[in-house]
Amino acid sequence: MTRSDPRRRIPRTDHLLADPEIATAARRLGELAVRDVVRDVQEAARRGDVDPDDVQGAIRETLARRRVGTGRSVLNATGVVVHTNLGRAPLSTAARDAVVDACGYVDVELDLESGTRSRRGVATREALLRACPAAGDALMVNNGAAAMVLATTALAAGREVVISRGEMIEIGAGFRLTDLIESTGARLREVGTTNRTHLRDYAAALAEGDVGCVLKVHPSNYRVSGFTAEATIAELAELTAAQGVPLIADLGSGLLVPDATLPDEPDASSALAAGADLVIASGDKLLGGPQAGILLGDADLVGRLSKHPLARAVRADKLALAAMEATLVGPVPPVTEYLHADNERLRRRAEVVAAEVGADVVPHDGRVGGGGAPGVPLPGWAIALAEQAAKALRTGTPAVLARVHDGVCLVDLRCIPATDDEILAEALARALGAVRVSGATG
Ligand SMILES: *Cc1c(COP(=O)(O)O)cnc(C)c1O
Repeated sequence: MTRSDPRRRIPRTDHLLADPEIATAARRLGELAVRDVVRDVQEAARRGDVDPDDVQGAIRETLARRRVGTGRSVLNATGVVVHTNLGRAPLSTAARDAVVDACGYVDVELDLESGTRSRRGVATREALLRACPAAGDALMVNNGAAAMVLATTALAAGREVVISRGEMIEIGAGFRLTDLIESTGARLREVGTTNRTHLRDYAAALAEGDVGCVLKVHPSNYRVSGFTAEATIAELAELTAAQGVPLIADLGSGLLVPDATLPDEPDASSALAAGADLVIASGDKLLGGPQAGILLGDADLVGRLSKHPLARAVRADKLALAAMEATLVGPVPPVTEYLHADNERLRRRAEVVAAEVGADVVPHDGRVGGGGAPGVPLPGWAIALAEQAAKALRTGTPAVLARVHDGVCLVDLRCIPATDDEILAEALARALGAVRVSGATG
């Protein structure tokens, strides 16, 4: 480096780290992240990509935009309410506030009145029992799969789990419920056939085997139609009660009470009323809460599960407990709102946004998603754009995930809060502008 080499003017690291703005950023983002940015910009200056006199400013600017963590929030314009790749249920404002409160020290296992230790998550348990009075007790664990592992381990390890061949489902990402059950040391006792399983098939298995529990799974993501038969929970309950074998119903979706919009979707209250001893459901599907597994049912059974050593390994964290309580006792969560969105209002909102960007509105069916209610359309509307807009939307800020179908980019407002319509319109305008520019030059 000669004396006149401009690289001599690149500020030194200690000088940059002492800059008050950069030091403040280090308290917000962490020392290591800031040192990385400083090094990157210094290197860019050595390569000649950044003027040495601009190094300090470039670092300040990069840091101002930087956030801790890489997760980005997404406007869900797919019309799919429980979108697995977008983290399933979005939390209500009440649940978000509860999570923030629970971030510090909280009374999750303490009775402040007496100053003594309490059962973990009592308030959430009470909220679950109030929402589903048919249950004698409730337990919340990490997720639906964890609830299944806990139940089958505690009730059937080393014994048989009786399950219909029509209910041996694979959920998503190659996750098979049956593999999970077998991993607990329970043996699967398959009964019936793919399309038809009768009560007598269960009866035969119960008469012969060493049965720990009978499992009835709601095949949430597919349907067998045509020449089919299955034993209902009520029929099975009569059989299992006579033999003293617990009947577990894995509902998946997490509806606690029936929902008229989804007449075929099972719910916990009805399953328990029909005679299921234990119901398993996810917290972040139609229940609209945080990731969780919900176990509801017979007080003795739930008690046995909560005392099992494995319960500690799958226990819910304090943030999820707080979010679940707020979801149950607070205002209607977004999932419920989006599921029941008024068709006319959806059309008006879509037309206002479409008019701002000069696009058309077309009929579009939303879906429940998350493996729930397969084939049930949720009639609504979408703004139709050129297919290329989808990528521009996805990679913009905010990120907008639209649906591409038959060469059209469809923007469905069902799962977007109405308060974000203006932000959405701006994002659409930007994306269309970018598509036009690349179309003109490319
Ligand atoms: C979703 C689902 C599960 C798994 O629940 P997770 O909360 O994803 O672990 C299990 N059974 C059924 C029927 C489901 O739909």
